[in-house]
Amino acid sequence: MTKDEGIEPDKIMQEVLTAWRLLFTNNHAEEIGRLNGLEERVFGLEVEHSLICLNETLRSEFHTRPDWTLDLGNIVLNEQPAIQGNDSRLVIRVVNFSKNHHFSLDELRMRHRSTMLTFDVIISPLGGPLGWIKKAIYECNDCGYRSEIRQRLARERDAPKMCFSCIELFAAKNKGALPPFPPRDIKLMVEDCYYEDIEYLNLRQISIDDAGNLTNLGDEKYIGVVNDEYVGELNNLSSG
Ligand SMILES: [Zn+2]
Repeated sequence: MTKDEGIEPDKIMQEVLTAWRLLFTNNHAEEIGRLNGLEERVFGLEVEHSLICLNETLRSEFHTRPDWTLDLGNIVLNEQPAIQGNDSRLVIRVVNFSKNHHFSLDELRMRHRSTMLTFDVIISPLGGPLGWIKKAIYECNDCGYRSEIRQRLARERDAPKMCFSCIELFAAKNKGALPPFPPRDIKLMVEDCYYEDIEYLNLRQISIDDAGNLTNLGDEKYIGVVNDEYVGELNNLSSG
């Protein structure tokens, strides 16, 4: 099946939104209804992988572009009346992936980027929780124009190269001429940025046979990262 993404993006988006709505209504209504007066800031809702596979649109979109599909699902989830009016946020956590999503860390290649896979690993803490700027807010000191730039974890921070608003203002005043120097007096608005709590973890690949016995213990040579409600969980588990 070919997708006419460029022609009818809204149609596919609508189908995905509808599919998520149905999935939550048919399978999670009671659970979501119980969330009134939720204490936690972020709450993970566990959604079975098999339920996603039942809907043709959801199955296809979730496996080709999981981030986009999950973002839409999270939007639907947070429209639910039970969590409106408080500070909590629900996030989808897909659980019990089918066997073909099960990998070993040694098998990971660049082509697996942005795909959903599961691993059997032992995790241990590495440095504890920390915050990072997920979306940076910049403001031009000259004209006051504000821009938002989504950042990538463990990458140099993306910042605007110059202020296009200043260039437009200059051009409007100077018969379309460009300013002699690129206007780049832009500052990061630290207080207004969107931060996310994350935690890096050490991962050790293990193998388990069908009876649940540990058959192989790998080296601690991989690092993973968790966010939201998983941050700090490891310390809570070991201390409590
Ligand atoms: Zn400006």
